[in-house]
Amino acid sequence: METAKTELKKDALIVIGGAGGFIGGALTRYFRDQGFTRIRAIDKKSLPEWYQRTPGVECLCMDLSVEDNCKRACEDAVEVYNLAADMGGMGFIERFRVECLRSILINTHMIESAYRAGATRYFFSSSACAYNTDLQKDPNVRALKETDAYPAMAERGYGWEKLMSEMFCQEYWAERGLKTAIARFHNVYGPFGTWDGGREKAPAAICRKVIEAKDTGKHEIVIWGNGDQTRSFMYIDDCVLGIDRITHCDDLIATPINLGSSELVSINELVSITEKIGGIKLNREYDLEAPQGVAGRNSDNTFIQKILGWEPDTSLAEGLAKTYAWIEKQYMDRKAGKRTVS
Ligand code: NAD
Repeated sequence: METAKTELKKDALIVIGGAGGFIGGALTRYFRDQGFTRIRAIDKKSLPEWYQRTPGVECLCMDLSVEDNCKRACEDAVEVYNLAADMGGMGFIERFRVECLRSILINTHMIESAYRAGATRYFFSSSACAYNTDLQKDPNVRALKETDAYPAMAERGYGWEKLMSEMFCQEYWAERGLKTAIARFHNVYGPFGTWDGGREKAPAAICRKVIEAKDTGKHEIVIWGNGDQTRSFMYIDDCVLGIDRITHCDDLIATPINLGSSELVSINELVSITEKIGGIKLNREYDLEAPQGVAGRNSDNTFIQKILGWEPDTSLAEGLAKTYAWIEKQYMDRKAGKRTVS
């Protein structure tokens, strides 16, 4: 994988919240692969439930919505990355708005603790759900640019929490001089992500459904909505590289920036790509009552291209093939009674 340029010393303590989850777990592995020797990974889940465990990393199981735990987590930290949130795909965030809103406690205590510990940089994982939903009512939407968050009309619950936590990051820089970085992720997918159980997102859910249809011989797939909804999907390797680059770019301090792919596809197209990978064609059934989120959403990458000269560029076909292979193995492992991620 490509690396970002950073002046950070290899023995500087990096703290990663939400490291038992998908992106936090991948980021932990990424920094370890870069040669960083002191990484503290934290999640509220018990260790056996972590999606990835990277050897040589200090792992702590703590609830980061509790202030004292955040203080402990950030002790001696040089950089702090907050990837912890109660979240999931549309099936989760449309049903559990209170849980999503309560993630504000995590960022509130983590940023204060990072500041008090004298950390030099703080990263916050925001989301495209922070954007004004009025701009996302048509599948043929124009891509969202960073200024489209205001006037604010974010996704109820989850999106408003992100917007408010972004504001914390902006004011900790303005008032207190803490260098903060804010990336608005657009749908991240890849190996070691949630693929079953209700929190999974569209790419993983569709891979699982195709694998299930092949395995059971019941050649049908249920699609949420009419399948015309559009989205872009970013592969996990692009996401962690982007986090590193954004965090270490002084032109981006306290400046929300899109981190997403600009390859727009409809959900029907996503199903077709997955069917091709699986070597099967399925009968499509549409569940119009299921949660579907906004009609269309894409990432405008003009700003990230201008500042970093880079954007997430793994094609959906390439990233999805790797993800499908991983989920297929998980599916078979589960069938064989082995422990799996979801
Ligand atoms: P994830 O659910 O796989 O990981 C989040 C982790 O945070 C989980 O392991 C969870 O146990 C942990 N967590 C939740 N509450 C906690 C608490 N109180 N204390 C400690 N740990 C806690 O999700 P992810 O996909 O890895 O998302 C990481 C971040 O990126 C989140 O902030 C999420 O909102 C954001 N994001 C993700 C996507 C995406 O497509 N995956 C898109 C936009 C934004």
